[in-house]
Amino acid sequence: MTLAIIGAGMAGLSCAFQLRKSGLNPVVFEKSRGTGGRLATRRSAHGGFDHGAQFVTARDAGFAAYLDHAAGLGRAAHWANPASGDETWWTGTPGMSGLVKPMLDGLDVRTGQRVVQMRREGTGWVLSLETGEAQSFDIVLLAVPVVQALDLLASHGAAFPGLEDVDIAPCWTGMFVFDEALPNTQSVIQRAGDIAWAARETSRPQREGDAERWVVQASAGWSRQHLEEAPEAILPPLLEQFGSAAGVSVPKPVHADVHRWRYAKVERPLGQACLWDDALQLGLAGDWCLAARVEAAFLSGRALADAVVTATKR
Ligand SMILES: Cc1cc2nc3c(=O)[nH]c(=O)nc-3n(C[C@H](O)[C@H](O)[C@H](O)COP(=O)(O)OP(=O)(O)OC[C@H]3O[C@@H](n4cnc5c(N)ncnc54)[C@H](O)[C@@H]3O)c2cc1C
Repeated sequence: MTLAIIGAGMAGLSCAFQLRKSGLNPVVFEKSRGTGGRLATRRSAHGGFDHGAQFVTARDAGFAAYLDHAAGLGRAAHWANPASGDETWWTGTPGMSGLVKPMLDGLDVRTGQRVVQMRREGTGWVLSLETGEAQSFDIVLLAVPVVQALDLLASHGAAFPGLEDVDIAPCWTGMFVFDEALPNTQSVIQRAGDIAWAARETSRPQREGDAERWVVQASAGWSRQHLEEAPEAILPPLLEQFGSAAGVSVPKPVHADVHRWRYAKVERPLGQACLWDDALQLGLAGDWCLAARVEAAFLSGRALADAVVTATKR
């Protein structure tokens, strides 16, 4: 039985992790150079920026147990921040992608390999890679954002009901470094004007360097309104919005960068943990199945693995 998982974010890796507990050994294809997907860190000469997911919380006992396991391996830590209120916030260490690292041990992950097409051949699948190679598998599991899943499914002609209705908001994210600490500023700012979130990187646990660096996420509305603008055109208004949200006169940054997440946070999820088609031996998972949270991606991947294991035992 050969299995391929497309996507090495939290959903794909939690699926692989769960499959391996049942003795199945998937191959994971990931188009990026690294693993973690939106659990992402961008490097700079001033230190790193976690420019995707900011922290995770656990409501499910299985996810809580996984976070404890990751913490025991030095890959997760509590972020004790006054803004967390009654919640326990976790971050990956030394960057957010640390959260998926414990699932990689012994797993066949092929990074830098984008799957561009899938076609049915006999009772199995042939995946075509951007490199021109093609590989055959009995089962294929898509753990990619829904828009990319729709593209891949279209290459075969497969369809699942409800996918077109899933709605995902974009997020323009700024990364700024200032040459001195911003005065009278809390380390986390939430939902202030057109800024959904801003955080001082050095307030996170075990981050390298002490430069005054900030990750600033625009609201979904602002991001949509400015979605097609050029990155260099976004930086000045985003910085201005940040200054208003922080209530400070922001100095000229010594470093400024921006990232456009076209598919950041699901606003209208599918409403079921995963999708599995027994006849096609094809499944789908991702945060977009349940909610805009890393925990949802974890649970979705696990649910898909359980569906596959049940199907293979029939
Ligand atoms: C700016 C931002 C802030 C967020 N803040 C939080 C937060 O604070 N807390 C929280 O819980 N959640 C947050 N989220 C949401 C969280 O990041 C996601 O819910 C979660 O990481 C999604 O995991 P996933 O595995 O479903 O998808 P992804 O992480 O997107 O993983 C999909 C993977 O598939 C790969 N891929 C796609 N197409 C192909 C292909 N054709 N071939 C091979 N590989 C492919 C991608 O490169 C990617 O690595 C945030 C997201 C963003 C963008």
